[in-house]
Amino acid sequence: MGKSSKDKRDSYYRLAKEQGWRARSAFKLLQLNSQFNLFADVTRVVDLCAAPGSWSQVLSRTLPPTSTIVSLDLQPMTPLPGVTTLQADITHPSTLPLLLQHLGNKPADLVVSDGAPDVTGLHDLDEYIQSQLLLAALNLATCVLKPGGGFVAKIFRGRDVAVVFAQLRCLFNRVTCAKPRSSRGSSIEAFVVCEGYSPPAGFKASLEAPLGLGMKFPEKPNRSDKEEEHLVDGVREIELRELEGGEDGDHDSQEARYIVPFIACGDLSEFDSDATYALPEVDEFGQKWKSKDPVQPPTAPPYKTALEMRRQLGGGGGGGPSTS
Ligand code: SAM
Repeated sequence: MGKSSKDKRDSYYRLAKEQGWRARSAFKLLQLNSQFNLFADVTRVVDLCAAPGSWSQVLSRTLPPTSTIVSLDLQPMTPLPGVTTLQADITHPSTLPLLLQHLGNKPADLVVSDGAPDVTGLHDLDEYIQSQLLLAALNLATCVLKPGGGFVAKIFRGRDVAVVFAQLRCLFNRVTCAKPRSSRGSSIEAFVVCEGYSPPAGFKASLEAPLGLGMKFPEKPNRSDKEEEHLVDGVREIELRELEGGEDGDHDSQEARYIVPFIACGDLSEFDSDATYALPEVDEFGQKWKSKDPVQPPTAPPYKTALEMRRQLGGGGGGGPSTS
């Protein structure tokens, strides 16, 4: 597929190049922010799984100039003004001290994570790896967030996503599932927007004993009357093992359920990411419109070798399911 046919088929891809964003993902964060006002009073942010860096660009263009923005990815990232870029694995224990060091050991107001595995097309496997990334991001977030802070992360809306919502609700006052207009309707991608970090009493964030390893913690207090019936001594414990499917894989228990609001965000007048649009005749300078090159090609994409091999073999096409 030529560049301009991709421009036509994916308006956000074209707009990203025209507006100087490193990736079309920038629009997802912009649309989430216009719905949830995520950046209000925010000056200290961690951007996990940040390469090539369009979310970091949004942060650096939107937050006050003196803000602290620490961005981290497995892949190297081309530097951005006002952003500290680190190359690290969010699932590795050595990443937390690194992050804290660059935050000057002060808490963050907001942690965002757009982490995604290289999709294999095997949905169960892709969802599993995605949930592991979410868990790793959440673990880091619990270690660096200030009380009241926010957490935004990509999820794949798979079969067991309700369990994830229930667990997030134990740590945050409000949890919403949001689908920005720039995220393709045909993809299982969505974002959890968690507001008001407020871990239960006694909860100790730690990467030595991270969430997901069978640890238990009490649920948040504002439950419905119906739920009260399940309380034992005023405290109901939810096992984090349920996050990973539980010992018996039973997700139908009342305890694992929390129905989160689902919000489609982004103005209806904005581009529909599943639609194909005619290309503009002229650009913003009144010149004949020409397809632009990407703002920042990936520095060392994991699929580089595969692309080179495909080029050598003269092949094309292929690809797994859409995740954006
Ligand atoms: N938000 C980014 C932007 O706006 O440019 C796009 C992020 S991209 C969809 C997903 C990123 O997750 C990739 O750059 C990938 O390297 C990163 N990633 C996947 N697993 C990771 C891990 N274990 N630790 C750190 N980054 C990871």
